[in-house]
Amino acid sequence: MRAAGVDQWLYPTPRGLYCAPAGVYIDPARPVERAIVTHGHSDHARPGNGAVLATAETIEIMKVRLGTEAAGRFEPAAYGATTNLDGVAVRLVPAGHVLGSAQVVLEWNGQRAVVSGDYKRSPDPTCAPFEVVPCDVFVTEATFALPVFRHEHAASEIARLLASMRRNPDRAHLVGAYGLGKCQRVIRLVREAGYDAPIYLHGAHLAITELYAKLGVDLGDCRAVPDDKSADLAGALVIGPPSAIADRWSRRFPDPVTAFASGWMRIKGRVRQSGVELPLVISDHADWPELISTILETSAEDVWVTHGREDALVYELTRRGLKARALALVGFDEEGE
Ligand SMILES: [Zn+2]
Ligand SMILES: [Zn+2]
Repeated sequence: MRAAGVDQWLYPTPRGLYCAPAGVYIDPARPVERAIVTHGHSDHARPGNGAVLATAETIEIMKVRLGTEAAGRFEPAAYGATTNLDGVAVRLVPAGHVLGSAQVVLEWNGQRAVVSGDYKRSPDPTCAPFEVVPCDVFVTEATFALPVFRHEHAASEIARLLASMRRNPDRAHLVGAYGLGKCQRVIRLVREAGYDAPIYLHGAHLAITELYAKLGVDLGDCRAVPDDKSADLAGALVIGPPSAIADRWSRRFPDPVTAFASGWMRIKGRVRQSGVELPLVISDHADWPELISTILETSAEDVWVTHGREDALVYELTRRGLKARALALVGFDEEGE
């Protein structure tokens, strides 16, 4: 029982998951003196902490989204480099979720826990692929932890988008996509499929997209949607926040085809609710088969499940003879999708 007792040094608190000997919280929900941040999404990266250990990319993302004063001190750590925090060996390894996203590997007293943050296993040309780290305790997300969730291959969803654009050359295509990660992944995939015309962005998505380009992700010609309402955007590809696709902003475009790139587009009720014409099942989170296979690959004997459909995953893992439990952590939402 190598995992026995890990909960003596790593446990949930009202401020977040706490590693006691290191005095550090992982993705804290409230400001703390010392934090490790797995990635830049707003339910994981919050302002006001004293010191923040994260990858250099996550730090750049936090500065763009939250301001350069978002933490008292930023401590960049490269993937694979070990930092000693009061005797706890801390290492960040790629999580494959968005640019800079990391799993946190914690070693103490001969035991190893891995806190995944959000993750996926399907290929994403905008970030480093998830790395399996064998461990005693694996802390997993559960955003899409129901057997119904099986994401499509992103490239084939992008092929459907481009086919719709060819069929409707006079209509603009408005794609709703979250601003950090999904937007840039869609752009990169569209480029890899051979589309090289300018791509138009809602103002909310500009800064992070420019940062991705600056950090080496080639996204081609991306521009702000022109203010001039008479600009001819027939046939154009436009990407904006999902909320903007449904509101007045979308009315400036000629007879638009609306689309939404999200794992939730697997669910008919969500498609209906979103009102989009072209649902694209593209997710930055592991689907049900990826969650199960990843957990088994880590060979963890104890699995802690956080934010999402904890119950279904705990049930399935227990059925397979693993120890599993839900961690009641506060402050996480579906924002990452
Ligand atoms: Zn996320
Ligand atoms: Zn999340």
